[in-house]
Amino acid sequence: MEQKHILIVEDEKKLARFIELELTHEGYIVDIAYDGVTGLTLFESQKYDLVLLDLMLPGLSGIEITRRIRKTSNIPIIMLTARSEVIDKVTGLDSGADDYVTKPFAIEEVLARMRVAFKKQNLIGEQFGGAEKETLRLGKLVIDPKARSVKYDGNLIELTKTEFELLKYMVTNRDIVLTREQILNNVWGYDYFGETNVVDVYIRYLRQKIDDRFSDKLIHTARGVGYIAKKTETDDNIQ
Ligand code: CA
Repeated sequence: MEQKHILIVEDEKKLARFIELELTHEGYIVDIAYDGVTGLTLFESQKYDLVLLDLMLPGLSGIEITRRIRKTSNIPIIMLTARSEVIDKVTGLDSGADDYVTKPFAIEEVLARMRVAFKKQNLIGEQFGGAEKETLRLGKLVIDPKARSVKYDGNLIELTKTEFELLKYMVTNRDIVLTREQILNNVWGYDYFGETNVVDVYIRYLRQKIDDRFSDKLIHTARGVGYIAKKTETDDNIQ
């Protein structure tokens, strides 16, 4: 099997070296950057398979690095964060990171998240490869999984990776009430260890970008259960 090349961007040198040692032991090839600028420079000069990225870094923050990487790459990014506040994790995920691990962590947790990220990446690869070509529709909303684009009544809606996956999952399962756990397992992955209210936060983002913007209601709350994507009653004549 081809060895995977991992970039660690972490300013706590002891921690960075510890992760490097463990990952090397697991058969990964590892590069370390101790600050954001070096991290980004390395990223642009080498081909990596995954980035482990500290949130609080001197110079460029982890969030800023993620934003820059996401302009050109879909590489899995796992954030390492010392903070426990959900809002920071959400900011990290919303900037385009795939997952996060809260410090202090067991190395097994990092390895598990990495495997999930690789698995997800493979699935996306397969989808691009042809399995998932069908356009998804819900009222005036059109999702093109192949182009990864979303339009409402012809208007392009810009979504982050996670928002896109969430919307796609909900529209694929339209008219079915989905629990937070189902959504979490299918969009964030079974090995996701975080809080379930990340689902509520992302539902809010989607509502802001779709329902609020176009004065429609496609994402409904199933009180006490979860969420459901369906057309509003007055919407029935559309298709
Ligand atoms: Ca740090």
